[in-house]
Amino acid sequence: MTHRVAIVGAGPSGFYAADGLLRANPDLRIDIIDRLPTPYGLVRAGVAPDHQGTKAVARQFDRLLAQPGLRLAGNLEIGRDLSWDQLRTAYDAVIVATGMVIDRKLGVPGEELPLVWGSWRFVAWLNGHPDFRRGPDLSAVRHVAVVGNGNVALDVARLLAKSADEMAKSDIVPEAAAAIAAAPLTDIHVIGRRGPEHASFTSNELGEMGRLARAVSVADAEGLDVVPPASDPTPERLRKAKNIAILKGFADNQAGSKSVTVRFHFGSAPIAIRPGELELTTGTLPVDLIVTCIGYTGDGYPKGEGVFAVGWARRGPTGTIPANRADSHAVAQEVVAWLKQCDPKSGPDPLPPVVDAEGWHRIDKAETAAGAAVGRPRIKMIDWHALLDVARGA
Ligand SMILES: Cc1cc2nc3c(=O)[nH]c(=O)nc-3n(C[C@H](O)[C@H](O)[C@H](O)COP(=O)(O)OP(=O)(O)OC[C@H]3O[C@@H](n4cnc5c(N)ncnc54)[C@H](O)[C@@H]3O)c2cc1C
Repeated sequence: MTHRVAIVGAGPSGFYAADGLLRANPDLRIDIIDRLPTPYGLVRAGVAPDHQGTKAVARQFDRLLAQPGLRLAGNLEIGRDLSWDQLRTAYDAVIVATGMVIDRKLGVPGEELPLVWGSWRFVAWLNGHPDFRRGPDLSAVRHVAVVGNGNVALDVARLLAKSADEMAKSDIVPEAAAAIAAAPLTDIHVIGRRGPEHASFTSNELGEMGRLARAVSVADAEGLDVVPPASDPTPERLRKAKNIAILKGFADNQAGSKSVTVRFHFGSAPIAIRPGELELTTGTLPVDLIVTCIGYTGDGYPKGEGVFAVGWARRGPTGTIPANRADSHAVAQEVVAWLKQCDPKSGPDPLPPVVDAEGWHRIDKAETAAGAAVGRPRIKMIDWHALLDVARGA
């Protein structure tokens, strides 16, 4: 008898946990469960569709799916289709890798207005998440405010600012691409509560904002005469110093010199939202759409003996894809130690019919074939029924 482990969440941290477990014990039987019929979590649904290099990490996970001990169980939501208790009863260990993607609130009046979109809802739409098929109406959107100073804010600003040609090799959902291309956009404001020396942009992503075909990035020179906090570790100080240098370059740019102007505001926080305007601590901006990129929270999960958590579900919503690897591998070691002191459970297969690796590969094949026909990496299927039909070979 071998031990049976359930991993709930087929995002990066779930796959890295499976990897860690199989390295330690290739005989384990692992089910990696996801509520979606498609694996890879935010690699598919969060990472920007024009950053295909980042999404390529999915190939590593795909190779893992070929290992005999690992079974994909898609289209199975724990807490809905199967309870956490049922899972704990049937498996020797349960690893929670469910991530954390509920948009955090700004906490200002007017936040409930339809012009306000959380970044998850917005990015999930662009990325073809089947629960987020409707995006904002961009047909009259000229001025956009992107609130936040991390890479997700840059993703949102860049995806709006890029030309259709620049998005041609991406796997953005075609409806979203068409809506952005047709929008009468002129201004995108990226708004940070603190100074540029505190922004958490990575320099590559910030630098990319200076190389856009139809958009010019500008910043106010006043306010850029700052240095990174001396208390920061050296790599952080170097990153921030580079960012400040990039922003100083933006300060030399001419607003309006291209059809879209991306303006970086620092030391400015939202106070109130009204139809058509965003009131900030530094003044009021005309806006037709506001995308908040200020982080995420989660639902939590039932804790108990034999239950372990990894990734964003464990650490909170920070850290890149590679950061989950070491974390998941370390937790896998704890799981292996736990399994050593328990007898393997017996019993029938606890899972109902699911979308397995074969079903996912049918979806993958259909999407990449549709993409190849138009020179894109893939055209995502965004309809639940279509996804399930294709997975079942219908
Ligand atoms: C918009 C955005 C852009 C990002 N861009 C980058 C980037 O460019 N580069 C980078 O390195 N990192 C990026 N990140 C961070 C990266 O995506 C995360 O570090 C990583 O995805 C976290 O992995 P995870 O496995 O913990 O969670 P997730 O990737 O969120 O995976 C969780 C999985 O659990 C499933 N799930 C949830 N609840 C249940 C349930 N009850 N039952 C079954 N399944 C369930 C979900 O469907 C999902 O597939 C980005 C994040 C966001 C939000």
